[in-house]
Amino acid sequence: MDFDGKNRPYWYEHADTTNFPHLMENASCDTAVIGGGITGLTAALALSQAGHDVILIDLNRIGRGTTGHSTGHLDNHYDIGLTNLVKYFGLSAARTFIHAKRHAIDCIEDWNKSYRLDSDFQRIGGCYYAEDADGVQAVQDEIDAANKLELNMTACNTAPLPFETAKAMCLPEQARFLPMVYVLALSRFIFLLGGRIYEMTRMEDFHEQHGKILIETTHGRIEANHLILAGHTSLTGKLSLQSRIFPHMSFVIAAQVEDEIEDALYWDTHEPYFYTRIASTQEPRLLIIGGADRQTGDDKEEDPFQTLEAYARQRYRVSAVPSRWSHEYFTSADGLPFVGRVPWADRVYVAAAYSGDGLTLGTAAGLLLSDIIAGRDNPLAEVLSPERVKPGVAGPKVAHFVTHIGRHFVKDRISHYEYSVEAIPPGEGRLIKIEDHVHAVYKDAEGKTTVMSPVCRHMGCIVHWNRFEQTWDCPCHGGRYNCYGHVFTGPPRNPLKREPAKVLEARTALH
Ligand SMILES: Cc1cc2nc3c(=O)[nH]c(=O)nc-3n(C[C@H](O)[C@H](O)[C@H](O)COP(=O)(O)OP(=O)(O)OC[C@H]3O[C@@H](n4cnc5c(N)ncnc54)[C@H](O)[C@@H]3O)c2cc1C
Repeated sequence: MDFDGKNRPYWYEHADTTNFPHLMENASCDTAVIGGGITGLTAALALSQAGHDVILIDLNRIGRGTTGHSTGHLDNHYDIGLTNLVKYFGLSAARTFIHAKRHAIDCIEDWNKSYRLDSDFQRIGGCYYAEDADGVQAVQDEIDAANKLELNMTACNTAPLPFETAKAMCLPEQARFLPMVYVLALSRFIFLLGGRIYEMTRMEDFHEQHGKILIETTHGRIEANHLILAGHTSLTGKLSLQSRIFPHMSFVIAAQVEDEIEDALYWDTHEPYFYTRIASTQEPRLLIIGGADRQTGDDKEEDPFQTLEAYARQRYRVSAVPSRWSHEYFTSADGLPFVGRVPWADRVYVAAAYSGDGLTLGTAAGLLLSDIIAGRDNPLAEVLSPERVKPGVAGPKVAHFVTHIGRHFVKDRISHYEYSVEAIPPGEGRLIKIEDHVHAVYKDAEGKTTVMSPVCRHMGCIVHWNRFEQTWDCPCHGGRYNCYGHVFTGPPRNPLKREPAKVLEARTALH
């Protein structure tokens, strides 16, 4: 079963795959970790190193979630900007946060060295730049905020790129690596330290009983003293956290170019911003370029991959675009991730909503959660606490998304869907409406149809067909299902409900 979208990241060609079994029977442990991305694996490795008995499960193969689809930038800048970080959270919290990002890069470097990982980890510079006068002030603001934070950086008039730029802030000691190679290696070391890893095992539910956490999975029950929910968004099933987390998609191409660019991380002042790096030390002329972000489930006409290709061709001499892919990321209402104990359960912890910075923040979160479980102080705990309240910053965004969700919840049920089953091209899916019933229909390459209810199993919004990845995506909280309705990311815990194909025939006949 392929629990994924259509496009494969460039990294997949350069990484092995894991083959851990699924859970075979009921099991118990100190700490159960849900999610084999960088967050869950970092927490599991840190706990295993400290002698904890860990079980990690993933509904897919290790690293095949967002981590394997990321672009491997490791930097201590942050998506909401240093200016906003200081403005919303104050200098002290902003310093703690940026320090944690820097420490995360150091940890990744340390583990690369001590475990002799082959993840092409390289310390390089990072460059935030404006292409023209419109972006100069944004860069200047970041330079001012970086100065307040006493961040090591240089203000430059241009970025070292083969096209015109108007201003740049250059940060030393950032890094790049191959994210898939890194996380697969972490999983092997967890296993060698005695940790148990089960793939193709989905958490369906959890609850507390007699001081233990009982986790129900597709292949049996796990009993644990602590539970880490490292699924990238809130897997808690509670609206209080979910209503503060918002889903987005980011798109990436690999572009073969004739230009040589300085080996650095680059991101610009566009909204949404474009981000660029070289693919690897061996392939310096293959550029990994990301951007064209949009909200999950947004099915506007514009093709984000074409946007990226046009962007690349306007700036570089592009000879080929050998791969392209996309994936989902989550932002929070006030801009910072939620990492820590969930307010309503004693030994359940969550790590979610890193914006586009989850490789450093996922590492920081994994280390933080292992500190919390081990009873060690970590100054980041207060800054990222899921219990924090920032109504001034978070309120407008929450209100915006409540309206967005309400609109989808109602409008997507009453909309007119023009497709009939016959009109669906092979290999595509569509919402079709017969009488008052909306159906999600996927037609495979041979023309065989799979009919599903389009009602998301999380909170009941209508999923949309994502024609770029051939997935069903929920615009409300970011649940994503493959073309056959199997959950592969986001908060839903169950697949889309199947409907017999004859439902369509019967309803068509009635019509
Ligand atoms: C296109 C793109 C590019 C990016 N580039 C960068 C970058 O360059 N630098 C950076 O810092 N950040 C980047 N990010 C963000 C970063 O990739 C993520 O924030 C980070 O990988 C999240 O890691 P994670 O371990 O929390 O989640 P994931 O890697 O998504 O892992 C979560 C795992 O949980 C599993 N799971 C979910 N639900 C269940 C369940 N019910 N039962 C069992 N398993 C479950 C999933 O299968 C998945 O494997 C990028 C994001 C995108 C979309």
